[in-house]
Amino acid sequence: MSTVPEITVSVDELIGANKYNVDEGGSHIGFTAEDVDALDEAEFLKLVKVCPAALYKIGPDGRKSFDYAGCLECGTCRICCEDTIVARWNNPAPMMGVQYRFG
Ligand code: SF4
Repeated sequence: MSTVPEITVSVDELIGANKYNVDEGGSHIGFTAEDVDALDEAEFLKLVKVCPAALYKIGPDGRKSFDYAGCLECGTCRICCEDTIVARWNNPAPMMGVQYRFG
């Protein structure tokens, strides 16, 4: 009987290998309110849970925040909340955004 080797994967480590060319001109993701703290809490909480890069946060003071700089461009937030609080989701401008690095 063979044993399957245990493999441990660190998502943070894998994401940390990526390179990001951040578009300082603005975010490729927009919301129904300019101030993310004004967004519906239940909908925002969905984004906190689904974003693989953990870019949607609710701080200890209850304030919501979002930082597009580390976006993996997976589109999960768009699929999750495009009918509610995600108003705009575009691919980043050419030469901007994530550059995946493996190995
Ligand atoms: S596209 Fe993916 S990585 Fe980027 S903010 Fe949305 S859920 Fe997070």
